Formats: sequence, C-alpha cells, structure tokens
Amino acid sequence: MSTDTLLDALHERLGGRGLLRDPADMARYGVDWAGERLGQPLAVARPASTAEVSATVMLCREHGVAMTPQGGHSGLVAGALPAEDGGELVISLERMDRVREIDPINFSMIVDAGCILDNVKQAAAEHDCDFPLSLGAQGSCQIGGNIATNAGGLNVLRYGMMRELVLGLEVVLPDGRIWNGLKALHKDNRGYPLQQLLLGSEGTLGIVTAAVLKLSPRQTQSRTALLGLPSVEAVITLYGLARRDCSDLLSAFELIPRRCIELAMEATPTLSDPLDDAYPWYVLMEVAASGPLDLGAMLEHLLEQGMSRDLVVDGALAASDAQAQQLWQFRESMLEGQRRRGEHLRTDIAVPISAIPAFVERASAAIMAASPTCEIIAYGHVGDGNLHFNILPPTTLADADKHAHLHELETLLFEVVDEVGGSISAEHGIGRSKQDAYLARLSPLERELADGVKTLFDPAHALNPGRILPRP
Ligand SMILES: Cc1cc2nc3c(=O)[nH]c(=O)nc-3n(C[C@H](O)[C@H](O)[C@H](O)COP(=O)(O)OP(=O)(O)OC[C@H]3O[C@@H](n4cnc5c(N)ncnc54)[C@H](O)[C@@H]3O)c2cc1C
Repeated sequence: MSTDTLLDALHERLGGRGLLRDPADMARYGVDWAGERLGQPLAVARPASTAEVSATVMLCREHGVAMTPQGGHSGLVAGALPAEDGGELVISLERMDRVREIDPINFSMIVDAGCILDNVKQAAAEHDCDFPLSLGAQGSCQIGGNIATNAGGLNVLRYGMMRELVLGLEVVLPDGRIWNGLKALHKDNRGYPLQQLLLGSEGTLGIVTAAVLKLSPRQTQSRTALLGLPSVEAVITLYGLARRDCSDLLSAFELIPRRCIELAMEATPTLSDPLDDAYPWYVLMEVAASGPLDLGAMLEHLLEQGMSRDLVVDGALAASDAQAQQLWQFRESMLEGQRRRGEHLRTDIAVPISAIPAFVERASAAIMAASPTCEIIAYGHVGDGNLHFNILPPTTLADADKHAHLHELETLLFEVVDEVGGSISAEHGIGRSKQDAYLARLSPLERELADGVKTLFDPAHALNPGRILPRP
C-alpha cells in the first residue's frame, strides 16, 4: 500500500486541521529546539482526541509506516525529530490540551498530554495547588513530553522527577489499543508498576494521551538568594548545611559559574552584576513553604552560618517577588547566552552529590588538556548531583570541524563520568544523540532486558524506531 493511500485515509479520519502535508506547514515540526538538526516528516498528524490517536496509529500499522510522537519539541536529544529520509509520520499532541479535571482534596489533576507545562501549573494554582515541575522550557514543553523524558528541572531535590509526579496514565500502544490507567491513587501496589515503564521511554513504547498528575499545596511564600562562593567544595558543604538548616524546605539549589553570569548579562543587557565583586562560583537558592513560617529568618540564619564558616563570601537576598524574579533571570538568560554562541556541547550528566567537586576538577583538567582554548561552562542542579557540563568550542575552530571536536571532548568527559560512577544522562534521555554512548555502557544482561521491554510493547519497532535502542 502506498503512503498516499495512508495519507488519504488519515485525512479522511482527522480532517484538514488534523493532517498537515504541505512542506511549508510541516517545516517547524522537522527542526530541533536549537535549530541544529533537521528531520523530514512524511506528514504531520494532529489528532484531537485519544480515539483519533488510536485510529492514526492503527492506520500507520496497517500501512507499515513508522511514527514519531511529538510534544513541545524542546527535547535535546533528537528524539522527537522525524528521520531525515521522510519515512516517519509525526504525531503531534498539540491539539490535545484540555485540563480534564482537578481534585484539590486528592491533590491530583487529569490533563491531556498536549497541555503545555506552564498552563498546567497555572490551572493547578487556580485551585490553590502547585504542580511543582519547573524547567526552562515550561512555556513550550508538554506534559506528554515531560512524561516521555521523565523530566526533572529546578525543584527535583524537593519533589522528585516526573516519575514521582505521575499517578496514572492513558496510553495508546504501538498497535493502536488504548490502555486506560488513569487512576488517581497515591498508593497502589497491585503487581508490576507498568506505567513506570512509560516514564522516560521517550516515545518508544506508547503515545501518552493523558495523565493524572500529583499536586502539592500551593507555596504561599518563598525566599530567594544569590550567593558568591570561593569554590565548588564550599558550594557542596553549603548544600549539606542548607538541606538540614532549612527544615528540608529547600526547593532549588543551583550552581552557577562566573562565566554564566557574564553570558546572562550579554544575553539580557538589562541585567547588571548581582554582587559588588565577581566570584568564581554562585549559588541560586530558594526556600518555599505553604504555612506561616518565617522563611526570611531561616535563610538569614543559614547565610550567617555560611559566612562564619567562610563558605559564603557575599550574597543578595531578594526582598520582593520582583527581585527574586530578577535573580532567576540570570539562570534563564545564561541559557540564551550559550545558545547565541552557536554549536556547543550540551550535556546533562549526574554524579553522586559528594563527588561533584572532584568530578569538576578532574573533568576540567581532562578537557583543558585536550582542548586548551575551549570554554567550560559547568552549572546545574546541585541537589540532584546533576550538572550541565557544557563546552563552547575554541573560537578559532572552523565550523566544519566543531562537531567532531566536540564529540571527542564528550567522549573524554563521559570517561570521567564513568570513573566516579555517574550517569551520561540525568535529564534529557538518550534519543538518537546519545545512543552510542548509552549502548556502550549497557551490560549484556541490561541490553537483553531493554530489548525485551521494547519487544513486549512494540515488536515491529513502529514507534520512534532507532531512539534509545537501534533499529533491529
Ligand atoms: C531551555 C530548555 C531547558 C530544559 N530544561 C530541562 C530541565 O531542567 N530538566 C529536564 O529534565 N529537561 C529539560 N529540558 C529538556 C526536556 O526534555 C524538555 O524540555 C521536555 O521534557 C520535553 O518535552 P516536549 O514536550 O518538548 O517533548 P518533545 O521534545 O516534543 O519530545 C521529547 C521526547 O518525548 C517523546 N514524546 C513527546 N510527547 C510524547 C507523548 N505524548 N507520548 C509519548 N512520547 C512523547 C518524543 O518522541 C521524544 O522522544 C530543557 C529543554 C530546553 C529547551
């Protein structure tokens, strides 16, 4: 059967708004977030309901066409990007963006998978609740994408990753059947936790169409501080102190090097140096609570302790929400600052928290020995042991040589990650970009189990073929 027959059948089932075939209409579905990689969709299906997702999948299976589920397109490992050969149908969830139900007593909400994270957070807030997942792409990423990538972000140290924030799922399986697991239970120990297999499966096991999310009481107050510190050791010691001293109310603890403060000021000229002097390392931290606690006194006490132990040299404590937002602006703008520097190495590694100082030292030494004029930008979510150890290539390097050079540096970096018992991906997943590095680190037993899971859900490799595991 020809693909034309499939596209005609899809058009009939989904209607004009539900199927895009014109190259100009499809263009934005075939480029990744950084604009660095291009894919070629066969067409773009935009189903408006779970039944339409199911029908789309069944038609693709009948015609032997592979599918790429796509959310907000902010993933960073080319998982949602269709293959370059034009053989994959993109299934975008963007029209499925309804908040189905909110239960503020059960602290849960049911949402369509295409809901944008920011909108979900807003809807929860309107019911005096928080959905605590927070990340830089929250204005565009979708809940389905967050689930498929087991997203983390800024508040993981307090609330966990997406895996801990999902109570139930509705999924269209690769053969088109609908698995309704939309349970709103906080405890459920019946048999194997099947839904957990979908968390972080990167669209290779099923298409998430809806989810029951776990909510928290809405934070009624928060305090934010930006601190200047002399070393990464001081940052980690302060982190241990802060976890204990702040009644476990720490909701963010971000490591930022001086270079990122400069990149942020370059990207957002309205930002000015946040402290009187420049420091090699900064910590952006936040404590938040929903009850009548004096968070200001709590944070001041921590800072006094940090200063008396020579961990903190200077700091700015936000006196208002507007000031807090301005401090957070450094964290957001530094990403744009890096993006403006063109192709660079983005990583999302994890190491044990206590190993961060040694890791940064060893990794920096290894990278600088191999590429003395590159720039290391190591920042991240210290409370999760998760670092974005990014590398800007030497400015003298020809564009054509950048990719290979950065790949060599990535290989070196991952060797240091292995030495400290870390992970090559704490957040973004494997997709297509990290597949070689992932497979090289799987034991034969782990590979057998991973192949078994894929075969159980998707024996034909119809859904996101070649992501995480290679095509057979
Ligand atoms: C500026 C920026 C900051 C970021 N910060 C963080 C961060 O702090 N923490 C973090 O963990 N990640 C972060 N990310 C990456 C993160 O993975 C994504 O932002 C987000 O989780 C992906 O959601 P998305 O809807 O954009 O998914 P997409 O990019 O569209 O897809 C990602 C993967 O999920 C699959 N997928 C998408 N929707 C579905 C669905 N409904 N069912 C099944 N599979 C699906 C796709 O096939 C693909 O494999 C960041 C990205 C950017 C650009």
